[in-house]
Amino acid sequence: MASVEHGWTAGVAARARRYWAVQLAAAGELPCCRCGVPVQVEDLWDVDHVTPLSAGGSLGLDNQAVSHRTCNRRHGQALATAAAAVQSAATRGIRPW
Ligand SMILES: [Zn+2]
Repeated sequence: MASVEHGWTAGVAARARRYWAVQLAAAGELPCCRCGVPVQVEDLWDVDHVTPLSAGGSLGLDNQAVSHRTCNRRHGQALATAAAAVQSAATRGIRPW
């Protein structure tokens, strides 16, 4: 099985998804870790990392929460854009800090 990102493999992701599906079903709704609006059982949702793995966040439950799929994708896109900006600045010899 291929590593996806820092050990977040398909198997780990599937277990996390099952765990959070149970939590969500039991609670009926859980707050989206991105926008704060409750994620409903019937919504499209993802297991999200509160601190991104790429920023040193852990794989553990303490760094997981549910988010709307749209919120997670938007957040991922923002991270990719920021990373691209840093990369672009670096290739132009501009320090990002
Ligand atoms: Zn949301």
